[in-house]
Amino acid sequence: MKRTFILLFCAALLYSAPAEARQRAPKSEKVRNVILMIGDGMGLGQTAALMIENGYEPTAFDRADATAICKTYSANNRVTDSGASATAMATGYKTANSRIGVLPDGTAVANLTELAKAKGLATGIVVTSHLADATPAGFVAHVSDRHDSGRIAEMFAEADIDVLAGGGRQFFTECENGRDLLQEMQRKGYVYAPTVEDFYAADRMPVVGLFAPKYMKPASRRGDYLARATEHALNLLAGNKKGFFAMIEGSQIDGACHGNNLGEMMAEMHDFEQAVGRAFDFADTHAGTLVLVVGDHETGGLTVISNNRDFTASESGIAYNYSTTSHSGTPVVLYAYGAGAGNFTGVMENTDIFNLIKALLIGR
Ligand SMILES: [Zn+2]
Repeated sequence: MKRTFILLFCAALLYSAPAEARQRAPKSEKVRNVILMIGDGMGLGQTAALMIENGYEPTAFDRADATAICKTYSANNRVTDSGASATAMATGYKTANSRIGVLPDGTAVANLTELAKAKGLATGIVVTSHLADATPAGFVAHVSDRHDSGRIAEMFAEADIDVLAGGGRQFFTECENGRDLLQEMQRKGYVYAPTVEDFYAADRMPVVGLFAPKYMKPASRRGDYLARATEHALNLLAGNKKGFFAMIEGSQIDGACHGNNLGEMMAEMHDFEQAVGRAFDFADTHAGTLVLVVGDHETGGLTVISNNRDFTASESGIAYNYSTTSHSGTPVVLYAYGAGAGNFTGVMENTDIFNLIKALLIGR
């Protein structure tokens, strides 16, 4: 009897909270804005840990209208790196690990920001790492080596992305060939924001925020940057009446999991979840907005394990167990919200994220 009551109580708790949000989400409209949010290294274990530590109170992830399982393997490895995974999501092609926006043989392939721009849509990229890092680079650059940060930064300077925010100033101002990419961008009309406060105050596009020489600080010392920068970037991008494509990354979940650092991972997951909530709120008030939240791969092989093999006990405690300091090949979960979310169900390839965004936002 008691067990039945607990089960019903849990069911009511899980059902009631997301239902209210779903009614607000304008999910039937034609898609005109797509916000792709990538949790770098975020698998189901990381999301489960966040939900458990949140006492099973609803998180932003619980608000999803639809979910899918996403296979992440690359063209040459069952365990992908961030470069190949970003390339798959940005271009629709599986490539070899370490490649950015090119096929295994080095042939460049068009990415979502280029396709969106050609259609007159605004584009934006907001990260917590540095802009020349593998995931953001996958949406802008075309190089065979993800560590070719100098060339990647040049491609950022030439791509005419409307909103750029993250770390990596040194790659724009200390170029080996003597170019000052930041100055070149300012001459083209970019507003430059050297601090996050300058970025929040920027009221026009194009804008480039470079807040650190290389990586931004970890979440425990970064404040509410990602949520605020996400909200500000989306409000700027909404100024384009044709719509926009934005890629927002919770970049440092990956690093925390490489280090098997549970405290930093929880801080990064909480930080990313706050940004996801802001994006979902934006979708609630801007018709035709689709938000996709997905990991590029899982890092750390994180599982939630019981402390006791005796399951007749009422509660024996749990532990969070990392099984590697590298990436794992476990598929990741994709969460979809808002307009067109119902297209994202079942088991898909990471390249299908590109295919569906292209079909919904850009057309054939
Ligand atoms: Zn990654």
